[in-house]
Parts: sequence; C-alpha cells; structure tokens
Amino acid sequence: MPLLADVIVDVPTLQTNQPYSYLVPEKYRHFLKVGMRVIVPFGRGSRKVQGFVVAVKDNAEFSGDLKQIDSLMDSKPVLNDELIELGQKMAYLTFSFRIKCYQTMLPAVMKARYTKTIHLIDEVEEAVLFDLFNGKNEMSWEEAEKKDALDTILQLEKEEKVEITYEVNDRTTVKKVRMVSPLFSFEQLEEEKEALPSNARKQKLLLSLLQAINETDAKAIAELKAEGVSTTQINAGEQKGWLKIFEKEIKRDPFKDITFDETSHLSLTPDQTHAFKEINEAIQKDKHQVYLLKGVTGSGKTEVYLQTISEVIDKKEGALMLVPEIALTPQMVERFKGRFGSQVAVLHSGLSDGEKYDEWRKIEQEEARVVVGARSSIFAPLKSIGLIIIDEEHETTYKQEEFPKYHARDIAIMRGQYHNCPVILGSATPSLESRARATKGVYTLLELTSRANKASMPPVEVVDMTDEAKEGNASSFSAALKQKLEDRLKKQEQSVLLLNRRGYSSFVLCRDCGYVLECPNCDISQTLHMDSKTMKCHYCGHEEGIPRTCPKCHSSSIRYYGTGTQKVEEELKELIPEARIIRMDVDTTRKKGAHQKLFKKFEEKKADILLGTQMIAKGLDFPNVTLVGVINADTSLGLPDFRSSEKTFQLLTQVSGRSGRGEKPGEVVVQSFNPDHYAIQLAKRHDYDSFYKKEMQLRHLSEYSPYFFLIKLSVSHTNEMTAAKKINEFIQFLKPALSDQAIILGPTPKSIARTHNRYHFQTLIKYKREEHLIERCHELLMTTQKEQAKGLFISIDYQPMDFI
Ligand code: ADP
Ligand code: ZN
Ligand code: ZN
Repeated sequence: MPLLADVIVDVPTLQTNQPYSYLVPEKYRHFLKVGMRVIVPFGRGSRKVQGFVVAVKDNAEFSGDLKQIDSLMDSKPVLNDELIELGQKMAYLTFSFRIKCYQTMLPAVMKARYTKTIHLIDEVEEAVLFDLFNGKNEMSWEEAEKKDALDTILQLEKEEKVEITYEVNDRTTVKKVRMVSPLFSFEQLEEEKEALPSNARKQKLLLSLLQAINETDAKAIAELKAEGVSTTQINAGEQKGWLKIFEKEIKRDPFKDITFDETSHLSLTPDQTHAFKEINEAIQKDKHQVYLLKGVTGSGKTEVYLQTISEVIDKKEGALMLVPEIALTPQMVERFKGRFGSQVAVLHSGLSDGEKYDEWRKIEQEEARVVVGARSSIFAPLKSIGLIIIDEEHETTYKQEEFPKYHARDIAIMRGQYHNCPVILGSATPSLESRARATKGVYTLLELTSRANKASMPPVEVVDMTDEAKEGNASSFSAALKQKLEDRLKKQEQSVLLLNRRGYSSFVLCRDCGYVLECPNCDISQTLHMDSKTMKCHYCGHEEGIPRTCPKCHSSSIRYYGTGTQKVEEELKELIPEARIIRMDVDTTRKKGAHQKLFKKFEEKKADILLGTQMIAKGLDFPNVTLVGVINADTSLGLPDFRSSEKTFQLLTQVSGRSGRGEKPGEVVVQSFNPDHYAIQLAKRHDYDSFYKKEMQLRHLSEYSPYFFLIKLSVSHTNEMTAAKKINEFIQFLKPALSDQAIILGPTPKSIARTHNRYHFQTLIKYKREEHLIERCHELLMTTQKEQAKGLFISIDYQPMDFI
C-alpha cells in the first residue's frame, strides 16, 4: 500500500490553504513525519517548491496520478502536532495562508540560508565510512542528497550514529567544543598510573585529571590543556583506551557573562495570595481559564508570575512569559534569571540568528522550561505548557502588523486551550476588550489593589500649556517642570522625561485652546495629508482643507504638532546646563545592546535625566527616580484611532508608575494643551475604573470595540485608478454577505496614500454579529488569486490596531 503525505506548499503566486497529496517514496516510509519540511514538484512544470507535511496517511486510497516527494529538508519535525494544528486555526483567524503561519513559527535561521551538516558521532560500517563519508567524519546534507543516501543517513540518525546540525552560512549557529571523557573506572586509572615509569609525569597528570571526572561526565580538552596536559598526551591516552574524544555542541548563552543575584519567593500580600491560589488551582487541575490580573504598577504582579511559574516547573511542565519588548525590560529578565537560573530561555530581539536558534533548541529539547520573550515567542516549541503569561497585555506590540496579522493574546488562548492550562493577562491598565470580557465572566478578574511596598501612587500635576503659551513661554518646558527638574538636581535625585511621539506631526492642534480637528461623522481626529494638502478622516473618507484658523477659538496659532527628541534635548541643555542627560530614542538605541547600556548608565546614577520616547515608559524600576515629566501628553490624543484616549490614559499611567518606586516619594508633571480631557484627568487620579466606565459609554455611543467588531480591508496597486476601482469592487462583493446592521466606512486613501509607488486604500467594516462575513472575506482572498499574482495587494485585518 502506498503511503501518502499531505503537504502545504509554498507557491507565492498560487496561495492556498488546501494541502496537496504526494506519494512518499519507499525509502522515506519510516522517516517521514508530520511537521517536517519537504521539497516537492508542483504545477505543470513540476518546479521544485518547499512545503510542510501536515498529515501522513497509511494505506490511503487514491486514484489518478500522484507526484512523489522529492526530498526531505529536515530529519526531524520542526513543528510539533500542536503547532501544525494551530497554524490552521491561525490562518483562518488572521486571513493569511497556512504556509505563512508555519514560517512565522520557526526561528529565523530555519527560514534563512543555512546548510545542514551530518556529523558522524559513533562507529559505522566501513562501507558507510568510506563510500558515503569519504573517510571523513562529516558531510553536507546536499551531498547525501546527491548520493541519494538520505534514507541511510536517517537510519543512522535513528541509531544515534550521526547527528545533523543546522548552520547559517556564517557558521555562527552551532558552536562545538572537543571534549574528553574517561573510559576506565577510577580504580583502573589508578592501576594504569602505578604501571607507568616514575618519569612519565605528564601521563600521570592526565590520569589524575581523568580520575577527577565522573564516569558519566566529560571535560573540555581546552581545560585539560590549561592544567598542563598536551594534545600528544591526550591522543596517546585515547590510543591506550583510557578516554574517548568527542565533539559537543555548546549552546551560547547570551547572558553568560552576566551574573544574576539569586532571589527567593517573597511572602505574598493578601491580594497576591488570593491571585496565586486561584491560578494555582487551575494549574494543579489542568484547567484552561483566562485570568485578568489587574494591579497598579508596583503592586507585585511579577511576584505572582514567578510563584505560579514555580508551581508549573514542579509539575515538570513549561511556562511561557511574553513581554512587550524584551530590550526594554532588562529588569524582568534579571528577575526571571535570578529565580530560575539556567531553566530560563530568553528569546531576545538583540540575539543573532544563531543565538536565537540555540535558545530555540534549548526549549525544544526541554532544557529550558521557562521562556521569556516578545510577541513571536508565543510559538516557542514547548511540548507541554502549564502556564502562559502576557505581561502588559494592553500593549499594541502584541499585534503583528505584517502577515500573518495575529494578536499574541489570541494565540496564547488557543495554546492554553490545547494544553488545558491557565493564561494570565497582566496589566495596570487592561485593554477595554479584556476588561469587558472580565465583566462578562469570560475572563476571571484578579486584582492587586495597592503597591507591594505600601508606597502610595505619586501625585500628578497637570500643567495647562495654553496658559504657558499665553505668558509667552514657547519652549517645551513649563515653568513648573523646569523648577522641579532643578530641584531634583539639587537633591541628587533622578528624573525621567517622556516625549510622546505617537501620531507625530500628522494632525493639527490649536496652541491656544488645544482644539484638535475631528471628523464630523466619526468622532475621530482627522489626519493631515501633506501630499494633497488636506485633512482626511481615515475611517469614513471625509475630507476638508487644512484650517488656517482654529474653528473653535479663531486663533491663528493652529499648526501641526510634534517635537523631536533631539530638539527637546537641546532646549533642555540650554535650560539647565549642568544637568547630565541621557537621550533614548530610535537614533541612540540602534546598536545592539544600546538599551541596556543606557539603562545601566542611568541606574548607576551617571546621569540626572533620562529623556526618551515611549520606550522608557515600560517596566523600569529605578528607586532614585522621584520625578516623571510628560512633555506632550496630547500627541497620542490626536491619533486617528478610536483607541487614542485609551492609549493616552495607558501611557500616562504607565509612565507615572516610574516615579517614587523606592523609599523616597515621587511626583509626576503632565504638560498638555487639553488639561481637562478625561483621559488626562483620570490618569492624574490613577482612576482606571472611572476611565473604563467613561470610555465604555463613548465606545457604545460611537459603536466601536468592544461593542462592535472591526475588519479592515486594504488594497494597494501601482495604478491609483486600479486600486480605487478594486476596493469598490471588493466592497460590492462583500455587501451581499452583510446584514443591514453592519456599517461600512470608506473606502479612503491611507494617510501616506502612496508608498513605494503604490497607492493604498482602505475600508472598515463595523459589525456585531455577521454569520457570513468571515467566510465571504476568505472567499474574496481565494477568488482574487490571479489578480494578486499580478500585483494587486489585498490585506484583511481582523480587529486592526493600526489605522494610519
Ligand atoms: P509589578 O510587576 O506589579 O509592577 P513588581 O512585582 O515589580 O510589581 O513589584 C514591585 C516591587 O515590590 C518589587 O521591588 C518587588 O520586589 C516588591 N514586592 C512584590 N511583592 C512583594 C511582597 N509580597 N513582599 C515584599 N515586596 C514585594
Ligand atoms: Zn469620518
Ligand atoms: Zn483654538
């Protein structure tokens, strides 16, 4: 009976989620597994394409001509059954192709150019050694393929006689050291020693060193040499049968040179205890449940993560912990390493491909049970997961803005269901969607109501920048903020200054009254389009001229708004020349490891002021910081995004939490042209609950998430007319599937209507319950394959976060 394999192929011009069946050649019958990558012939020309095996069917019935699998790309599955299944669900949810989902799950090195090498690690028959390996102890995968000997190699791998490694072409992937392990017992080595002539000093030394190695253990040759044994002695020892020499793969540990202070469990506060008990019950009962852990900054959420993970490790299961951006959370990594040591694998964006691959291997081989990393770590190949945590769950970085457009939260929940394990969503300012689900009982709400060290939340002063403007202060710093900065300098305390760069200079704001031009139809800020010199609404397409005077107060100081970090730094230097400033933005952090260096410098008090963009708002814990200043709270309010108030509230709350974390009390100054805006006022009072209520009312009125779902359809083409015509066509295609409750906004050009010489249009569909919409969207993607192959770009984004 023939063996068949279902393969998801990678054919860019003809994407499909339907697997194709291939015959499995006899020689691969016993090796082919689900989750391996293969090369198969495809299409009329039988051109060679890559694919993932998603099913293997024995005794399958088939009719007609089936093509054969050409060769194997892997000797073992690179994706496990869970991930294969997940890719299918993910493709459906994110309107992308399975092949893209699978590729996204793999570490970069397995996508990039690499070579596979087959290493002999044990004795083999002479025929194999000489005919296949040419007497050497390694050969390339390609060579084995050419000799049509992959089946022999796979058999040898099964017998643990060869090992196959992946190496990126710069050979940084797998690092090896030559090792020695004793073959004689302690007593036998002693006998050998006694039998040697008394002048064989070096050989005796080698024997003593071998005695010091445990029988099952090994020692690096380099170390033996350091003790004074030469290569000649070691080779002689091998000849005499005392020892064996072999190569061992060394996994580079990017944190190798850093020592972590060991920490132990703190005794939990009553709030923490309650949260811990709830989550631990789910862990012990293998129950899937999503917990929303809401606690102000410094309330001890991380301690709850650490102690629940500890329970998971005791069960011999793995835990996954996601952070918004790992380079920005060095202290989180320190705390995890400090508690769990080498059991932690860190998937760090700063790692080289080779280092990432090492970490991936450590996880796959279950050497590391705790995985800490950013969004894509959600695909870490842990075999059995006991807990998944998403810290700062409200962060938009959890949504991938390129294909496949997945949200890590959705994937976390899918994996949690598969593994029957709890998922913790942690935040001081949960997203409205998650908070609303907790109200409905879909998630379980757990609250930590006060800071763990009993410190109170810092007082927040809101400075009205329109007043400053009236008094002739055109600088970025109010009198109040300047005075407080100088005061910290005197006291040798530190300050953090946030420059809000979101929505940078893409909207207009009145410097006299704070007015931001909104769309008359959508209650969303309009975006400035410099190409057409107009204001446009990204939701409904409304368009008007750029106002010359403020529509509200008729002042002429209406202008597009934005300040660069560099400019602010210069102003600050002029204002307070003696202050030592660290500037942190995309320019100063481009180099690998730059974040850590700057943070370290600030931690060591080598600077008085840390000035930076959003990247400084997260997770940092510097006890000497007693002042936080927000230079421009408004820029995020002006975003053409229905979540702009939510984002502003979250940012202000988060950055406020950086102040007064140590013994000394802290304070916060927020500068704004809209000091009375509810997002700013409620952030000032640290009042999430009121913000949630108010914002939910507004979302209800304007029919946005979480009351309505949203789908964004984008189209782009090098010809503007074609793009415009097509998006209208597609809307007509979708319409019959919609009830009259659904609302279609647009189509409208995007804010940067033309990039890379392509014209972009988008449309938004708001809906509550539409049975046929999702299916219809999939149909749209399938039926437009030919056009897509010819350069029409279509993207469908479920629950988009990005509207610019
Ligand atoms: P969050 O993650 O909510 O911002 P952290 O877990 O970082 O809060 O805790 C803030 C500070 O309080 C840390 O310095 C931490 O060591 C300390 N802390 C947390 N829990 C306790 C506890 N139960 N007892 C004493 N200190 C604690
Ligand atoms: Zn509008
Ligand atoms: Zn005005």
